[in-house]
Order: sequence, then structure tokens, then C-alpha cells
Amino acid sequence: MLLFSFGLREIPVDTHVARVGTRLGLLRPGAPFEELHDTMLALARPGEELELHLNLLRHGRRTCFARAPVCARCELARSCPRVGVA
Ligand code: SF4
Repeated sequence: MLLFSFGLREIPVDTHVARVGTRLGLLRPGAPFEELHDTMLALARPGEELELHLNLLRHGRRTCFARAPVCARCELARSCPRVGVA
């Protein structure tokens, strides 16, 4: 609400954002919600919070599924520690 409706510097961390961010090594596994939120907000450049949130959300819904991520067709695979491709 703060981000979508009021355009404030905020970033929602839902289950998709947390999962994708953790798999990409952006977030510490098992971190509490407050840490996930603060880390994600620190990673977002000012003014790009909404874009980062929506891109991670979309990636989690279309490719990086909870049970079976489709790493073979993931455009982030080269940067993903889970795949181990450098
Ligand atoms: S490579 Fe796999 S685990 Fe990593 S972000 Fe892509 S889909 Fe998710």
C-alpha cells in the first residue's frame, strides 16, 4: 500500500520475492521478515523499488517455482548460486 498507493520508498517482500531473492543469494536463508525487508530495500535503487518487486514476483510465478524451479530456461541462471554456473 505504501509503495503502490503512495509511492513511498518501500518494497513488499512476499513469499515469491523472498524465495527468489534467497535463491539468488541476495537474502540470507532463514532470515526473519524484518531482515528480508531491510536487505531488499537496501538493494533497491531509489525509485526502482516497484520494478524490483514486480520483477522478482513475476520471476517467482513464471520460472522460479517453489517446488520445481525451471533453471534450464532461467535467464538468471548464470548469476544464480543455486545452479553454480559462473
Ligand atoms: S536458476 Fe533456478 S533457482 Fe536460480 S533464479 Fe533461476 S529458476 Fe530460480
